Amino acid sequence: MAIIKGSDWGGSRLACAQTCKQKYYNKYVRMHPASEGPSGITRIEGSYAAIKGTLIHKCLQTYYQQLINDSDGDKRQYGLKAIQAMLEDIPSFVIPPHKAPLLQDEIISCADQYFQRYAHDDLTPLAVELPVQVKIKDYRTQEIHVHTGLIDMLARYHGSVFVVDHKTTSQTFASLFQKYVHSLSFKGYVASVDDEGEHKAMGVLINGIRFKNNKALEVEFEREPYMYNEAQMEEFEATVISIKREINACADEGFWPKAGEQCVQPWGTCEYFPLCKFDDPAMVNALYKPNER
Ligand code: SF4
Repeated sequence: MAIIKGSDWGGSRLACAQTCKQKYYNKYVRMHPASEGPSGITRIEGSYAAIKGTLIHKCLQTYYQQLINDSDGDKRQYGLKAIQAMLEDIPSFVIPPHKAPLLQDEIISCADQYFQRYAHDDLTPLAVELPVQVKIKDYRTQEIHVHTGLIDMLARYHGSVFVVDHKTTSQTFASLFQKYVHSLSFKGYVASVDDEGEHKAMGVLINGIRFKNNKALEVEFEREPYMYNEAQMEEFEATVISIKREINACADEGFWPKAGEQCVQPWGTCEYFPLCKFDDPAMVNALYKPNER
């Protein structure tokens, strides 16, 4: 029986493969001239929005971990420590020079407003950055697909256990929440938590954080729960298997189709857009670096 190792098949990979096979190839398969094997490539200069999102994730992770360690501690101190941890992470990013001065102000302001908004929160964190996995068997080939992921947080929210996913955005909340209604990653997270045994997740809670494009230091917050029924979860398993077969077919044929309609979205342009226009090895060297594994 062929076993696909967990690290080969995660939730975001699944969603990426579903979106565009060429993107999957660039992100996870393509070999960078400076790497020794297939690793995928990523832009050297990260997108400003993505960097901001990663830093806010770090802040919330640090904050909620302290609450898990001691729920009776001083939340104000937890907030300050979380902001400090986030600021210490800034040097690890390559930031567009014209955006760098604003970044620190924006993320401090965001964290400060978040802690004030949720000072009396009906959300109790149970775990942060939790590795999870779910096994899915392909009955045709007898392969077992191990679907792994790292969930932002597991929490009790209004009495039920939810997988919490922090999402930063500049879209409206209506667009953000619609975008994830059929998210394969989310269904995978719910299945994973159920598989792990200790908790049964009611669903996924998006913890939405919205930066307003026209007012840099003003942030809005909203949360949205998603619940999945049995039929949707069965569909999840069949979808994973179907996508995996598609990926195998692309790899066998050495052809990764481009999904042209996905290149430009309301939230930004795909990071591989220049390569899809003109696939030049010199451009790979100049604009991209190997993915870290
Ligand atoms: S630019 Fe478009 S076609 Fe190319 S990888 Fe991105 S989404 Fe796919």
